[in-house]
Amino acid sequence: MAVNLTNYHHVLENLQPFHAQLVAVSKTKPAGSVRALYDAGQRIFGENYVQEMVEKEGLLPKDIQWHFIGHLQSNKVKYIAPFVSMVHGVDSLRLLQEINKQAAKHGRIISCLLQVHIATEETKFGLSEEELYALLEQASGLQSVRLAGLMGMASNTDDLEQVRGEFRRLKALQAAVAEKYFPGTDTFRELSMGMSGDYQIALEEGSTLVRIGSLLFGARNYAQ
Ligand SMILES: *Cc1c(COP(=O)(O)O)cnc(C)c1O
Repeated sequence: MAVNLTNYHHVLENLQPFHAQLVAVSKTKPAGSVRALYDAGQRIFGENYVQEMVEKEGLLPKDIQWHFIGHLQSNKVKYIAPFVSMVHGVDSLRLLQEINKQAAKHGRIISCLLQVHIATEETKFGLSEEELYALLEQASGLQSVRLAGLMGMASNTDDLEQVRGEFRRLKALQAAVAEKYFPGTDTFRELSMGMSGDYQIALEEGSTLVRIGSLLFGARNYAQ
């Protein structure tokens, strides 16, 4: 059940001046490890497999806020709709509509982050800028989802200036969308960016939610 509490407190200290929140990414780690971090005060946990998230939710305290951070298939939304508090990787209107439908069934409002493709790798999910604006035009009228902001993953590279540039572009896009579609409100203010290896840069570039796994829970048993 190893969790690295020294790193946990260090991360929290680094987040504090930026008023950003920590999503502790517990994918592939046992419920006992989540519980250990919960006991240290952590309440937001991120998972990217539906079945694993459902199992852990059943075993752990009800005041945990579960964030789904992976690629979510529309046909699996129903399993997490009763409890999930935020979905980070929404990259199609179809998925957003399904989250809306399932949230309504449970009388809930689910916060969603739209995922934008900012990395150079082609394998990663996410919307282009044009697709993002097209989705925003079509998404009005959905009553049971809250469009909370954007999410992105930087390129997996040692070139930290490239990573910084990608984060900066995402921040600019979030600010532009907030101003165009949600002026004078506090909607669309969230920016989910930064992982174990690049979260400090992400904070400097405006992240409000960092998604950190291996720094807290150690390396995972298989590559994600
Ligand atoms: C696994 C994962 C993370 C955490 O990665 P670490 O490098 O272990 O901090 C963050 N975001 C997403 C989408 C992930 O799948």
